[in-house]
Amino acid sequence: MHKVTFIPGDGIGPEVAWAARRCLDATGVSFHWDERMAGEGAIKEFKTPLPEETLQSVRDNRIAIKGPITTPIGTGFRSVNVALRKQLNLFACVRPCRTYAGVRSPFQNVDLIIVRENTEDLYAGIEFATGEPYTQQLIKELKEHSKQPIAADAAISIKPISKSASERIIRFACEYALSHGRKKVTAIHKANIMKFTDGLFMETARRVGREYDGRLAMEDRLVDATCMQLVLKPQDFDVLVLPNLYGDILSDLCAGLIGGLGVAPGANIGDGIAVFEAVHGSAPKYAGLNKVNPIAMILSGVMMLDYLGEHDAAQRLDGAVAAVLREGRQVTYDLKPERNDPSAVGTKEMAEAIIEKMKTVKVRV
Ligand code: NAD
Repeated sequence: MHKVTFIPGDGIGPEVAWAARRCLDATGVSFHWDERMAGEGAIKEFKTPLPEETLQSVRDNRIAIKGPITTPIGTGFRSVNVALRKQLNLFACVRPCRTYAGVRSPFQNVDLIIVRENTEDLYAGIEFATGEPYTQQLIKELKEHSKQPIAADAAISIKPISKSASERIIRFACEYALSHGRKKVTAIHKANIMKFTDGLFMETARRVGREYDGRLAMEDRLVDATCMQLVLKPQDFDVLVLPNLYGDILSDLCAGLIGGLGVAPGANIGDGIAVFEAVHGSAPKYAGLNKVNPIAMILSGVMMLDYLGEHDAAQRLDGAVAAVLREGRQVTYDLKPERNDPSAVGTKEMAEAIIEKMKTVKVRV
């Protein structure tokens, strides 16, 4: 029996999270679901979109699956999702990008994994607004120290990249690659320009990579060149490890390579703690319509099964997803050639088709 915190989220969250939960239960693996609130519903009851009791449940159970959460305006949260990752120290964001037959995408045979550092970089949100007295003071000091011109009306964002966090994420990516049968890790940076921050990330990747000699190929590449290579020859990549901001951008680029947000799963992982969630957000305009694609959330569930060591169940669920996608009949509107195809099914019906398929499909296809 696995005790898992279940956070339905808001917007389309509850629909896709429940679809995933039904599929996970149908694998036959035994779960005890500890259901907790976050997002808009939680504001009414707890006066915050991220209640402490929800965080505590994840800390206790060490594992959660969550639907997307809207970041409400005016609650003091830059993003509820970022706050959750920070509070639980989920330092690694893992996003596998794999093409499935039946999903329209510009590419075939893409099978790569993005490992994104989650805690620092420009994404840490250390910002200073234009014109504020403190910003002006900062600009004065920065100009003195760097001998570089900075416009007096500039806003400033800080980009911390540490040796310790870089080493932690690169080691994580290498271990993840080894445990998932991968052969190569590519560290992404812009060290030719940002010599100290990205340079540190690159140097750390080279140093840590040497420890994996003979077990993994380690390389590093510039982020701009990588963007071009990804859209020319995505099959050249295996596991990519990136600082936070490049990771954010390239994971959406790679979601595009495999057919979009509807099919892109993810996980945020810390030391012995993990939260599984789709890459997409809460798409409020589709909330409650039983319309959106549950695949990203269901594949996040497949990742959770693997994390729990339930590899057979993971393969059966993944195989059933692949079969339903390949057949292309019982799929949501976004997976049909025409978006208003009347034969498209709802979120719930697609999950049911996958559950039915699991009875006959045994292995990954
Ligand atoms: P979004 O991902 O919610 O939606 C963008 C568009 O993508 C939708 O309008 C829809 O056309 C499409 N889409 C998304 N998921 C889909 C699915 N499962 N099936 C079919 N189509 C789908 O992005 P957004 O509109 O920028 O963000 C809405 C809210 O979600 C914001 O408040 C944002 O902060 C939040 N958000 C949350 C998470 C998370 O919980 N991890 C991630 C991203 C955004």
